[in-house]
Amino acid sequence: MAHDFLPSLTGSFAQPASENPTVMMVEAAYRHHNLHWRYINCEVSPDNLASAVKGALAMGWKGFNCSIPHKVKVIEFLDALGESAQIIGAVNTVVNRDGRLIGENTDGKGFVQALRKVVDPKGKNVVLLGAGGAARAVAVEMALAGVEKITIVNRNVQRGEELTQLVADKTPAKADFIAWDSVLKVPEETDILINATSIGLYPNVDAIPNVEMSTLEPSLIVADGIPNPPQTRFLKEARAKGCITVDGLGMLVQQGVLAIHYWTGVDVDPNVMRQALLDLGL
Ligand code: NDP
Repeated sequence: MAHDFLPSLTGSFAQPASENPTVMMVEAAYRHHNLHWRYINCEVSPDNLASAVKGALAMGWKGFNCSIPHKVKVIEFLDALGESAQIIGAVNTVVNRDGRLIGENTDGKGFVQALRKVVDPKGKNVVLLGAGGAARAVAVEMALAGVEKITIVNRNVQRGEELTQLVADKTPAKADFIAWDSVLKVPEETDILINATSIGLYPNVDAIPNVEMSTLEPSLIVADGIPNPPQTRFLKEARAKGCITVDGLGMLVQQGVLAIHYWTGVDVDPNVMRQALLDLGL
């Protein structure tokens, strides 16, 4: 009987790497779909990134994720970028296409996929809290998905204005900026409110964005990028106001689904991946 002891290899380069649960959800999907693929979680320092990318190519890896602190730096080692990765200026998924390395960004795409379970972003008015890496990916991808207008709300004015300018210049969406120097009253015409800051991330689970919760209409859809805990205080309070909510675990799972599709061509079951994360106690 013929055997194949050579799996197709994928993985992640990050520092720190030990707290990243992606390996658990990706390998759960590979097993569930009988894919002869592996995902290896690697601790890679900035000094070693170039060698790690060369090594992955030498070993025939089919692709890899990049996380903190490599999402921008990795671009100089790649051959081409997908449309949104180019606008965002950051890559979290690299695909080896016959020896050419293509950079994609699935963070924002994953967010949009998760959001689509409850609403089509096309033509909607969005308020986005934050202007860091996650917010940048979410803003660009929501704009490319056809939102009418994005209002960026950020504490650091320079970062907020830069992201607002990026959306206005590089995407079809309108963009606006509010400096977040006091409690935010959600504008009446808002359809979707998104927390893309790090507020509420474990262990600071009691923290909540500085938003006047009485301005949340029940018709508002409220989404949070925080994956751990998935039910943030922000989402719990929004649900108590009657809002439909979307959690950050959905974003994490969907960006994994998209990465696996880029690498293997297979559409894996997101529920298997979500369950793998919930089994970890997330
Ligand atoms: P960054 O450090 O790049 O950005 C952090 C953002 O949060 C900035 O806009 C910062 O504002 C804002 N912020 C932080 N603390 C406060 C505060 N106390 N008050 C107001 N604003 C604050 O981080 P990332 O964008 O990379 O990540 C943000 C979060 O997104 C992380 O917690 C991460 O868990 C989550 N994430 C989730 C993913 C998923 O798949 N679910 C994927 C990627 C990220 P300022 O500019 O003023 O400092």
